[in-house]
Amino acid sequence: MKQFAVPNIYRSELITAIKNKRKSEDKLKKDFTPTLLDFGPLQIYLARHFGFCYGVENAIEIAFRTIEENPGKRIFLLSEMIHNPQVNADLKENGIEFLQDTYGKQLIPFETLKEDDIVLIPAFGTTLEIEALLQRKGIQSEKYNTTCPFVEKVWNRSAQIAGKGYSIVVHGKPKHEETRATFSHASSKTPTVIVNDMDEAVELAGYITGKKTAEEFYTAFKGRYSNGFDITKDLQRFGVVNQTTQLATDTQAIADYLKQVVKAHYNLDDKNIQERFADTRDTLCYATNDNQTAVADLLHTEADIAIVVGGYNSSNTSHLVELCEEKLPTFFISSADKILSSTEIMHCNWRTKQEYLTQSYMPAKKPLRILITSGASCPDAVVEDVIERLAGFFSTEKNVQAFIQDFS
Ligand code: SF4
Repeated sequence: MKQFAVPNIYRSELITAIKNKRKSEDKLKKDFTPTLLDFGPLQIYLARHFGFCYGVENAIEIAFRTIEENPGKRIFLLSEMIHNPQVNADLKENGIEFLQDTYGKQLIPFETLKEDDIVLIPAFGTTLEIEALLQRKGIQSEKYNTTCPFVEKVWNRSAQIAGKGYSIVVHGKPKHEETRATFSHASSKTPTVIVNDMDEAVELAGYITGKKTAEEFYTAFKGRYSNGFDITKDLQRFGVVNQTTQLATDTQAIADYLKQVVKAHYNLDDKNIQERFADTRDTLCYATNDNQTAVADLLHTEADIAIVVGGYNSSNTSHLVELCEEKLPTFFISSADKILSSTEIMHCNWRTKQEYLTQSYMPAKKPLRILITSGASCPDAVVEDVIERLAGFFSTEKNVQAFIQDFS
């Protein structure tokens, strides 16, 4: 995979050494078992795959290169570059201003933009409406477009489905930048509606089968269907695409469920289901699949707690937390300084996005076994900080330097 010029502050000598060694021993990416860092009284199990993905590294490289190559120019980001607080803070410190917050709230009016301003499009992509607005203002955004190719792949898949006369159901978080962008692209080609979760898929099924009335749909799905969407006919033939960072099991369950509903309602079988349900595999990206599979393997390890590192508004990271929580006490933290001491930790509830203080989070066990992973927008340097912070509470037999030598 392409190598990117990402600032060294985000890299970690330890994690790079581990990842390189694991990669050289497993070129085909078949081994998802975790890596053990045995400090003696503390045993840390690191997921096989975690941290910056292709799209995030690409976006960071373009953003910092843009800053370097354009001294004195006004540089804006449409919204957060990626969902990581440290990276966004660094970009702001380097003079980049954000036009919108992560939920689309305007922070700086578009009217203030001038032709020679630079506007970076984040890794999530953007809507056709915003692309058109930038064009009208004469702002050249192609060179500064960091949309991840795996997001564009979803747009292409949507276009293919639309070209065959299907409507589109987008499984995604309705307010997430990527889902808003995918909705915009898909709905320019075909009737489109967003479902957030299985409950909403079940609700949607009620309109497909006629158990619910059209009026109910327009209220329940307000703001989440395309202009002119006709619930009485636009779900007679459709396909499902996903936000790239959804939980793989959710995505599969929703597509399977809707397929069964269509089959039963129209009396179809596997041979003719394509008449009404587009045969699409999920549109999750490779990083989402690798990181979730690695967590599934990580959770086979007997352990006491799990720590997941990443931005609190990061969708892919929240799903890793969700998976870990099913098995053991899990703490979702954005940086090492959230580990206040050996007895106190500040951590986020991914459902409410609120931070909580938990006491006595580390059971008094020897050795204490901690599982660690991080999201696709989290710098490896932050994970190393977390490891060092935890190791600092124990009188360890080895230090981080010794592990770097082991893995180099
Ligand atoms: S998580 Fe996937 S889709 Fe999102 S930026 Fe990374 S590689 Fe691209």
